[in-house]
Amino acid sequence: MTRTVFVNGDYLPETEAKVSVFDRGFLMADGVYEVTSVLGGKLIDFAGHCRRLARSLDALEMTNPHSDDEWLAIHRELVARNGIVDGMVYLQVTRGNPGDRDFAYPAADLPPTVVLFTQSKPGLAESPAAKTGWKVISIPDMRWGRRDIKTVQLLYPSMGKMMAKKAGVDDAWFVEDGFVTEGTSNNAYIVKGNKIITRQLSHDILHGITRAAVLRFAREAQFEVEERNFSIAEAQDADEAFITSASAFVMPVVQIDGKDLGSGKPGPVAARMREIYLEEMRKAAV
Ligand code: PMP
Repeated sequence: MTRTVFVNGDYLPETEAKVSVFDRGFLMADGVYEVTSVLGGKLIDFAGHCRRLARSLDALEMTNPHSDDEWLAIHRELVARNGIVDGMVYLQVTRGNPGDRDFAYPAADLPPTVVLFTQSKPGLAESPAAKTGWKVISIPDMRWGRRDIKTVQLLYPSMGKMMAKKAGVDDAWFVEDGFVTEGTSNNAYIVKGNKIITRQLSHDILHGITRAAVLRFAREAQFEVEERNFSIAEAQDADEAFITSASAFVMPVVQIDGKDLGSGKPGPVAARMREIYLEEMRKAAV
């Protein structure tokens, strides 16, 4: 199926969409992105993604090319034109095309490049993996120091995903100075009794939109939330573990570096948080 994509104000067949070879997103990874899930034709936590997009653009001294209402209209139009029931909308804003390659940023008034496209994932929320859980390995965190900015510079996370694949598991958890930072494209959690533990926010990790919602729901459901560092050894010894992201929601983790957690089956806290998250977010979807 030929998708309709959005490029700089136009809705086009994907085969006709064009971006310059001089685009700084292409040459320098000078751009930011967001991925918003669609369930039942509606956008999940759209306001959260708009807030983080604004924050990422601000951190890179780029002007937000659209208001939140305009972003919403573009998302909705793409969902409608592509008949998306369950899936994702990917959004990317780069610093644009200065007409040549140069390390210095071009003039601030250069129009950014704006690209959005959809990915159809029927049954996204009924992923069979949520019933069996993910296995992960740990690998050194070799990314840059501003992981809180959601840039399109995703080479090391891609390499990490490939290391996980080669090891026959589902994902990799990054470790820095002895502590887990996050997964290749998700935030990481462990559970001990009634306590949910996840790394504190800083420049070291992406400030997950799903993380913020899940921690809010966890507190409301009377779980204790501790935002602090944890090691792989502590995680292996925990009752449960899970990850969160906009497209995986809450996904149980059942094995870390070959060691099963508890029974080796998804735990009740991860299952409960997945259920609450999906229920609440479907209700609030726009
Ligand atoms: N950390 C990283 C490195 C990610 O790439 C992602 C997903 N984009 C997340 C965490 C989860 O963020 P969110 O819940 O906003 O999808």
